[in-house]
Amino acid sequence: MAWIFLHKGAFAINIQIDYQCPQCGAPALLEETDRIFACQYCRVKSCLIPEGVFRYMIPYTAKPGKDIFFLPYWRYRGMQYCCVETEVQNRFVDVTQQAVNAPYFPMTLGVRAQAMKLSFVSPDTQGRFLKPGLPVKTVLQHQENVFEASFSRADIYHHAHVGETLSLIYAPFYIDACIMDAVLNRPVSDPLPDGAMDGLAASENFHWPLRFIPALCPSCGWDLSGERNALVLSCTNCNRAWQPVGTTLKPVPIMFIPGDETTALYLPFWRIAADVTGISLSSYADLIRVANLPKVVQNGWDQIPYYFWSPAFRLSPKTFLSLSIQINLTQPPEHPVDGNPPGTRYPATLPVTEAAEALKISLAGMMKPAETRMPILPQITIRPIRFALVYIPFQSGHQEWLMPDYHIAINKNLLTLTDH
Ligand SMILES: [Zn+2]
Ligand SMILES: [Zn+2]
Repeated sequence: MAWIFLHKGAFAINIQIDYQCPQCGAPALLEETDRIFACQYCRVKSCLIPEGVFRYMIPYTAKPGKDIFFLPYWRYRGMQYCCVETEVQNRFVDVTQQAVNAPYFPMTLGVRAQAMKLSFVSPDTQGRFLKPGLPVKTVLQHQENVFEASFSRADIYHHAHVGETLSLIYAPFYIDACIMDAVLNRPVSDPLPDGAMDGLAASENFHWPLRFIPALCPSCGWDLSGERNALVLSCTNCNRAWQPVGTTLKPVPIMFIPGDETTALYLPFWRIAADVTGISLSSYADLIRVANLPKVVQNGWDQIPYYFWSPAFRLSPKTFLSLSIQINLTQPPEHPVDGNPPGTRYPATLPVTEAAEALKISLAGMMKPAETRMPILPQITIRPIRFALVYIPFQSGHQEWLMPDYHIAINKNLLTLTDH
């Protein structure tokens, strides 16, 4: 089997958010991907829990006395895939788009939200917050249409969005004959006709508290460890793992493939058991047939369960797909060891719910021959039934993280390692 080399990256700039430690009030700067906040002053570590999605506002600079209102914009960043004829096309999507239908207002925030510091919406903010009237799926549907329009060919079998970030950003405006941008204090529309604000309702309650839960093991009380952007936290005392679900920490089944003395880093993958209909894919023998692998099915291979696998960390859409296909074709050993791996771990930053969105895409990339398999994609359903986070050992090469047994090499530039 040929090695796959994963190189290309496509990362957008993170939004930064001004923040205050809820314990000691010390100022801090968060990144939009932060899920754990460790205060540099008081050392308290907590998980950041939004109500629904994270809601940020752009601070305004308008003179006092203006009737400020905030228009909501969806901020979405993620990977988009489209199965077209025999190929899986991909692209990276990074948009802010109106979360209401307000034709007189700017349709997007452009790069502005990335160029300035945002803050969380707080109860003492002066102004009205308009209610988001369009669901995020409207934004995604629009992105699908834009993507589809870029293909001249007609046969499109499947779409998928694998989200990395979803939030609402509230941008401030006021009316002064026309719509005024309350950050730059300049007009962004022509003089408004009567009724221009019709249909834009204010949210009755804009108290969307950001909750914190202490990053302590619910089982043994030990400090949990995890990077600032980690979705899963580990307890090195009782050897379990946890993730915030709602306002509590729920256990995550955690396992690892043992490494050896050459192991330098463990990378996290989601292993997902799923019910598949429309195609026979429940065993390793099925995989050989579906992917038309150059192997003869051996006795007992129809007893080895097939698991879907997905990277549990962010990559560019292209490398995410290549790595997904490779790890699914490899099918790591059926019985990993329970618990946290003994060495350095790379944080799990992609939720299992998003990884599940990508399962059909990696299947589409594996099925051979694509000419006859792709058209049956719309009939295939994949229903995840259980999952585990499995760490896989990698060696440190000159420029790549290497997993020789699986023929995987990931360029080190694609993974940012911070302090462990
Ligand atoms: Zn503090
Ligand atoms: Zn514990």
